[in-house]
Amino acid sequence: MKANASTLGSAQIIDGKATALAIREELKVSAKRLTELGAKPGLAVVLVGEDPASQVYVRNKDRAAEAAGFDVHTIRLPEETTQAKLLAEIHSLNDNPDVHGILVQLPLPKGGDLNERETVRAISPDKDVDGLHPENVARLVMGERGFVPCTPAGCIELLDRYEIPIEGKHAVVIGRSMLVGKPIAQLLLARNATVSMCHSRTADLASMCRQADIIVAAVGVAGLVRGDWIQPGAAVLDVGINRGEDGKLCGDVVFDEVRQRAGALTPVPGGVGPMTIAMLLRNTAISAARAAGVEL
Ligand code: NAP
Repeated sequence: MKANASTLGSAQIIDGKATALAIREELKVSAKRLTELGAKPGLAVVLVGEDPASQVYVRNKDRAAEAAGFDVHTIRLPEETTQAKLLAEIHSLNDNPDVHGILVQLPLPKGGDLNERETVRAISPDKDVDGLHPENVARLVMGERGFVPCTPAGCIELLDRYEIPIEGKHAVVIGRSMLVGKPIAQLLLARNATVSMCHSRTADLASMCRQADIIVAAVGVAGLVRGDWIQPGAAVLDVGINRGEDGKLCGDVVFDEVRQRAGALTPVPGGVGPMTIAMLLRNTAISAARAAGVEL
């Protein structure tokens, strides 16, 4: 079903906020059904330390999960928590049948012996709703059932809900992080796009983008993607979250230029961003359904 869209310039503006809200409403229904089956989705969020941004992210995830009718287990650990203590918490969540999704808020505090890679590896791959465990990375590459990182999953969901075709299209992904660039490229490839991955050493980024039917910008550089880089009618997903010179949030794309040429475009804020929590909840509901042996 096509989500609500508004038109500004020539591009259709992809409304990630409304799409995410619609998904969260759908998940309420799923959570109710799972609860009736004795499998109420449970999300555990582990926060170590007092980082203000992490606290806001965790609060938003908790609120969204509760609003969708999930059980939320928030584990707040002090800054000086040791790796051994953190691993013990994760093992206990792995063993807890009421917990279907485990998320450790990153980054972990620096200065102690905390190790992010080891921490992510300790999460059971079947509860790794962030899709960051190496087992889930391998499953994604191998085309096997697993969990896909939430922001890339949200990008594909937006393309699908706006009925933007992927198969046979040339997708240019800018950025090659494990969190966004690499998984989105794998997802597009799995949907039979021809994928070009670009990064800071790409020789001529503008000419790569000019050949794209779909552009995913996941860089973190305000104003990188210009209007004359866009093939008329291309779909542009702006994942970047930056502060512009005016102090306002902005993406990697020069919005006012790109919207004149693109066929569809996500704004920042209100585009890809809100989809991340919706996909986290969906992964948790999928995990609860799998544990109960039912289809979502
Ligand atoms: P990251 O780990 O810093 O990766 C950035 C990537 O961009 C790297 O692969 C880098 O290339 C590439 N890059 C840097 N400068 C470039 C340039 N001038 N031209 C082309 N490529 C360039 O960042 P990330 O975690 O993937 O996040 C990317 C952006 O998405 C950030 O703004 C972040 O805040 C945002 N984000 C949003 C959400 C959300 O909406 N929910 C979620 C996650 C991230 P090299 O590999 O060559 O260094």
